[in-house]
Amino acid sequence: MKLEAKRIKRHMVRTYEFWQMNLRILVIAEDQKKVLEDFEDKLPASDSGYLAFAYLDNELRIAFLGTSDDETDEYEFFDTKEIFTIPASAVPTLLVRLVKLNAELAENAFIQQAIQEQANKALPMSTLTIRALDSSRDPEIPTRLRAFRIEDEKKIQELIELDAMRQAALEEAEEKAAAAAKKAKKAKKRNREELEEAAEAAEDEIEEVYEDESLMLEINIADELAKSLETLWVYDLTPANNGAWRANLEANLKGSKLKANDLVHIELRFVEREDDEIALVFVDPEAEVEDIKIEVSSHVATRLPWRKAYELECLENHDFHETYYLGRNGEDSKLFNKIVADIRHGRLDPAMYLDMVQKEDVSLDFSRELYRCRHCGDLHVTRRLRLVTPESTMSEPYYCPKCGERSSQVKRVHIASLNCPVCHRPLDMKPEKVWYASDEEDDSILLEE
Ligand SMILES: [Zn+2]
Ligand SMILES: [Zn+2]
Repeated sequence: MKLEAKRIKRHMVRTYEFWQMNLRILVIAEDQKKVLEDFEDKLPASDSGYLAFAYLDNELRIAFLGTSDDETDEYEFFDTKEIFTIPASAVPTLLVRLVKLNAELAENAFIQQAIQEQANKALPMSTLTIRALDSSRDPEIPTRLRAFRIEDEKKIQELIELDAMRQAALEEAEEKAAAAAKKAKKAKKRNREELEEAAEAAEDEIEEVYEDESLMLEINIADELAKSLETLWVYDLTPANNGAWRANLEANLKGSKLKANDLVHIELRFVEREDDEIALVFVDPEAEVEDIKIEVSSHVATRLPWRKAYELECLENHDFHETYYLGRNGEDSKLFNKIVADIRHGRLDPAMYLDMVQKEDVSLDFSRELYRCRHCGDLHVTRRLRLVTPESTMSEPYYCPKCGERSSQVKRVHIASLNCPVCHRPLDMKPEKVWYASDEEDDSILLEE
């Protein structure tokens, strides 16, 4: 079998973040076997390289699923039930190519099981998508977070304000340094003789800016908080109702009845940085732990998406002929019930669970739409799912079943100008027809005359 993968460069395992590697295929070239020497006796034999799979199971692990050739992208799964796995931290210098899962690869039993296990933990998995929390995570176990016990609210406020001031001062200093560097550059153009003098002056200016030690980047707000507040560890942070969060305690909490593994109320405070933000995790042992109920309704659209069938054919080379049934048949309770089942079984995009649990008045807008892969050009019909709350809307990301890369929706007005995904010649579109779903139990679709 052949990977339909985007050609990307090889990188060391340690240079990837856990979320870049989770549920990804790793292509390991033959020349990397030397890095795997320690595991030689346990690794199945391969004449070429390995096809491996990275997944999060407390720590990030690598499973060796088969052989692969890094040049031709040919791969084959081992036909054994026993799969050999190692922690990713055991091979930080291993060079790998990351490949996204597609429908064919995802049929592998081991991959199925890993996906299922993560789906069973959909709520704790959802908070792994919050990048602002990454600096609070245990580097080995991403679900384990450093938290602070809320004791002295005034102290916390003070430190957060101090941090904001430091950030602002740092930004100003950087602007000054950039302006000085620009000045030096200008001087260089103007007069070669003045060059040295100007450069020196600029350097002095830059040095002066950085002399202020309070601007040192190394001062970290989390470290500052740790000096004055009790630090503790929590795991499996989960969104909860009413915009709250909750997590499990790692150890018994001193001076309270709370024990290891107990649920506690968590407060996240987001602190703005220059080009990102960090989230600080606070445990409030007194506060009530909120529920994690999900209630969604079907979105009442002001105008339903057109229920139309589009028949496309490649008249030039006769290598493509498909009919796409797009839109939705009124309420379409069949499709809505499928979506509800997917929510219950953890099969939605993890980030969507955050809003679904935390916000009120959540409704789901859905219809069948046509998508085109940005990488391989494959055309496919997928349900388009949008989560609507009074303040915001959020769409599920779509991935190509063939190569796993992102797909984009083809707007209805652009369907007539699509090219053949096989030979890339313009496609012919037949006159649009209206369809309706049959009342039978199956999913058959009928065309209106
Ligand atoms: Zn594709
Ligand atoms: Zn064609």
